[in-house]
Amino acid sequence: MQDKIRYYSTAGRAPVVDFPEALFQGQPPDGGLYMPTRIPGMDPEEIEAVKGQPYRDVARAVLWKFLRDEMPEQELARITSEAYNFEVPIEHVAERRHIIRLDRGPTASFKDFAARFMARTMQYYQRSEDAERVILVATSGDTGSAIANAFWGVEGFRVVVLYPKHEVSDRQARQMNTLGGNVTAVACDTKFDQLQANAIRAFGDKDLAGLRLTSANSINWCRLMPQIGYHFYSYTALEPEKGEPIVDAVSSGNFGNVTADFIALRMGKPVKRILVATNENDEFPGFMETGIYRPIYPSKACISNAMNVGNPSNMRRLFDLYGGRIDREGVVHKMPDLDALRRDAVGMTISDALTHITIQSVYERYGVLLEPHGAVSWAALHRYLSLREEEPLSIATETAHPGKFPEALQAIGVEPELPESMKGLDEKEPSFFELTADYEEFKEFLLHLS
Ligand SMILES: *Cc1c(COP(=O)(O)O)cnc(C)c1O
Repeated sequence: MQDKIRYYSTAGRAPVVDFPEALFQGQPPDGGLYMPTRIPGMDPEEIEAVKGQPYRDVARAVLWKFLRDEMPEQELARITSEAYNFEVPIEHVAERRHIIRLDRGPTASFKDFAARFMARTMQYYQRSEDAERVILVATSGDTGSAIANAFWGVEGFRVVVLYPKHEVSDRQARQMNTLGGNVTAVACDTKFDQLQANAIRAFGDKDLAGLRLTSANSINWCRLMPQIGYHFYSYTALEPEKGEPIVDAVSSGNFGNVTADFIALRMGKPVKRILVATNENDEFPGFMETGIYRPIYPSKACISNAMNVGNPSNMRRLFDLYGGRIDREGVVHKMPDLDALRRDAVGMTISDALTHITIQSVYERYGVLLEPHGAVSWAALHRYLSLREEEPLSIATETAHPGKFPEALQAIGVEPELPESMKGLDEKEPSFFELTADYEEFKEFLLHLS
């Protein structure tokens, strides 16, 4: 028997906890992030066994490695089949190059993979006699809809989603305020930062303890772990030779996507290189080159907007994986093993100009439609492979649906169809509450939630 996996803080000043605590606490009190005390292995035979298998089965096999001491296998099977009730298409583009479309979930971005798994995992721990939990989320747009959709209809939970009414698009608002049921949307006459501050204050407010406020924060370990599933699937679905290594290009903003791939690599996925693809927020490619980590403040507003992060939260986990330590401000306390990191990965910066050109050329040459986030990883893959004679098996992540970015596709004269899950959104009747920036008003609202 191997040791049970527990969770430690990357900052090293908080107690080690069990999985349910890491899940519901979200974040250790010392400013670090939770990491597993042991990274389980998938040996070559186990990888062979899931080759060519459907997504939910690959995800179950991989996640079982982390959860075997936490829940019965049939519960995990139920969670993966409920969470992953959508397609995960892989398209061959050219030579041995592919893209994986992670955009077929209800909010048409890859964040659905983690959010839907986390919602059902939290539900597993919620006993029927327990009082309802209230998931409180402040959002600048996409995270709120992914969380609201993930918990929508999940018994034992209510979602309160706060959004800045002047800062989200009409369509983004509709993804939150037309769900109804256990999702309460609140349009606020203030900015995202204020909403975030109000939410953080509410989590610590003793008067609200009875509400069992719960965070579904993006830095929760359970928002990262499920993503290891698709990084294995993008390999096994291509049915490589046993042990054949792959080149992965991964669109990276807050680094959850790519850190999950680094963990897949550590588990035993045969990877030749991870291409860490960023937009002009290139603190990581800069670090790989110079060994100096410089957060980018303020972050640059690139067209791949979900990747506009100048100091990614998950850098703490990535440094930790390579024996280093960095804090949430981006100050390096201990250098990671840079040689090892450079053997496994390459940092690549893709400008907005190149992102535009890539969308255009990939469409013209191959008839394949990419949106800006996927174009960044594709451009990284293209650049990496064009410098080499060999043609290894390779795949790039397409993390959102092109239909969410009509402006970016105007140049190629294509009007992308809306994702299936978003059709009809414009006809649905919105329903929401309105609040100001005032904390006391917000608190009263929460206390009278019925
Ligand atoms: C969040 C997001 C990313 C970046 O993923 P990280 O895990 O933050 O690195 C890329 N593309 C899209 C569409 C996203 O929503």
